[in-house]
Amino acid sequence: MFEITVDYDKCQADQECIEACPAQVYDEGEDGKPVIARPEDCLGCETCVEVCPTGAITVTEV
Ligand code: SF4
Repeated sequence: MFEITVDYDKCQADQECIEACPAQVYDEGEDGKPVIARPEDCLGCETCVEVCPTGAITVTEV
């Protein structure tokens, strides 16, 4: 399993992670920022970490 954290202070709602995630882990929240809706589906690929322009996402294997 993977633990995903989003630093919502850093997040600028670019939604790159929502679009890039191959497992559709994220939904769009009301403020445009990602909601970690399906963390159990995370593949640990770190695509979201790489595409985030502000470095707001971390993914750790737990
Ligand atoms: S690590 Fe990969 S599968 Fe997991 S949330 Fe990020 S983009 Fe999606």
